[in-house]
Amino acid sequence: MKLVIGYLYGDLMNIYGDTGNIIALKKRAQWRGIEVVVKNISLGDKLYTSDVSSKPDIYFFGGGQDQQQELVSRDLVLSIKGKVIKQEVEKGVPLLSVCGGYQLLGEYYKPHKGPKLPGIGLFPTYTVASFDRMIGNIVIESQFGKLVGFENHSGKTHLKKGALPFGMVLKGFGNNGADKTEGCMYKNAIGCYMHGSLLPKNPKLADWLLRKALETKYGKEIELESLDDSLELQAHQKALARFS
Ligand code: GLN
Repeated sequence: MKLVIGYLYGDLMNIYGDTGNIIALKKRAQWRGIEVVVKNISLGDKLYTSDVSSKPDIYFFGGGQDQQQELVSRDLVLSIKGKVIKQEVEKGVPLLSVCGGYQLLGEYYKPHKGPKLPGIGLFPTYTVASFDRMIGNIVIESQFGKLVGFENHSGKTHLKKGALPFGMVLKGFGNNGADKTEGCMYKNAIGCYMHGSLLPKNPKLADWLLRKALETKYGKEIELESLDDSLELQAHQKALARFS
């Protein structure tokens, strides 16, 4: 099997170790004998060419500061990339987005200075920069069990009616430090504030994303061979013990 990972704006949106999510997805697939191609997709790039084999089977969109978000928002919304990403998610293609990337997949992100940055409206959410810096370790309860990460954002994200949170905050701030929700989930797309990077310490989530990507691509149930996750689970447990 072959997996194409679409790395959205990795040259601009990659802070607090977010590229570690690409490494985790790549290695966990390769350890199972799956061929992996990482496609960097940035300003002015097409998501994929007419050669369908170059079409991403999963997308990752990391965090970034306001100035990068302004550039990326324009590119996402003015090009057809935003529309195509939504179409792919509708088909079941999985996507993981963190912080600045997550914010641009909602309806808009209003930075401290300047006008609202339009998002693509994949998630029924909107974000407004605040004067609170929400920074620190975060633990949430989710459909994948407890997940651990690190957050650093001023943006407060609000879920609109019908939006499904990715999880509920046990420790930390989450979407806005008030309603105890963290992130948003729509079909197999996840938005969250969990840097860290998220996937190396949460192998169950990493494998869920891989499985969804392969099942959507090959149109059948896929059982991933189990890996020795002793190191990953040790890191997970340590973080849980220290930050819960
Ligand atoms: N600029 C956004 C905020 O501070 C996103 C920052 C990030 O990606 N960590 O909320």
